[in-house]
Amino acid sequence: MLKPIVLSGIQPTGNLHIGNYMGAVQNWVALQNAEKYQCYFCIVDYHSLTSELTPAERKNNTLSLAAELIAAGLDPKKITLFVQSQVPEHTELAWIFNCVTPVAELYRMTQFKDKSTRQEKNINTGLLTYPILQAADILLYGGQLVPVGQDQVQHLELTKDIARWFNNRFGNYFPEVKPLLTEIPKVMSLLEPTKKMSKSLGGGHIVELADEPKSIEKKLSKAVTATAGGGTAPGAQNLLMLLKQFGTTELYTQFLQQEKTGTIRYGDLKKELARVIGNYFSDFRKRRAELLLNTTELQNILDHGAQKAQAVAQKTMSEVRKLIGIR
Ligand code: ADP
Repeated sequence: MLKPIVLSGIQPTGNLHIGNYMGAVQNWVALQNAEKYQCYFCIVDYHSLTSELTPAERKNNTLSLAAELIAAGLDPKKITLFVQSQVPEHTELAWIFNCVTPVAELYRMTQFKDKSTRQEKNINTGLLTYPILQAADILLYGGQLVPVGQDQVQHLELTKDIARWFNNRFGNYFPEVKPLLTEIPKVMSLLEPTKKMSKSLGGGHIVELADEPKSIEKKLSKAVTATAGGGTAPGAQNLLMLLKQFGTTELYTQFLQQEKTGTIRYGDLKKELARVIGNYFSDFRKRRAELLLNTTELQNILDHGAQKAQAVAQKTMSEVRKLIGIR
């Protein structure tokens, strides 16, 4: 029997942070290791054109992200790890999807609204049509299960609609997609805990997997935990949730209890959290540094992944072209 197809992507916009890890990458590794799925994981460099990276940054980030994904546990022998732009069929299918998607649906996307306020001098068309390219990324491989963070759920609803609009017009071809969320689908920024942690926020907002323990401690020491009104503030909630994931149950229960009784000292919580996160990623940091010593090998892995992906993408596109009546 054919194994269900899992697909997900990540932008080469910076180093992996704990939000990417908790919301997506940790799940990718678990799905790979379950050996019940055919997994495709894609570094979506075309998506990163919607923001303002320089060409050199895009190039370097792509290779270092490949190293980080492998260091975090992805095994290119078990899955297909590739770069989006190396498989041009992605943009071809995106054009076709452009022509079945009502533009009003794109204006509804909250990420478009958010990003338009964040980069108001560069509201390019790609920012608006990004979810269409994302639908193409997934459906090109017949993706059924998509492990992502909470921020992507609305886009996946749109992917489902796009498949339906295409199928209604040209014949039943694309499957229905389903998001797979983790227990922590949304990690918040350290400095602005009402916003999600994102590579584009950078600096003190994020904890990178590659951060040295000293740097994690410094960043966490500045994390906002102030309460606006009663109850646990979003920043404190975020730190406790991270402690639950990275620390022992005992440690978590101890701080949770203190939070409830109002005796918690956030300085202590931050120190403990920095310690457990630093330890958790110590093997990752070692492996990442080793992998980055051999960029030729990393490129070979990505080239091989692109070949495997393209074989599937080409088959899909030749079927899609027939369905829409061009060849
Ligand atoms: P970023 O916003 O950091 O650039 P991407 O857009 O490249 O991240 O997303 C890569 C994956 O990581 C997606 O599945 C996304 O949903 C997930 N993700 C990103 N930020 C977070 C977060 N703060 N919490 C949980 N998951 C996240």
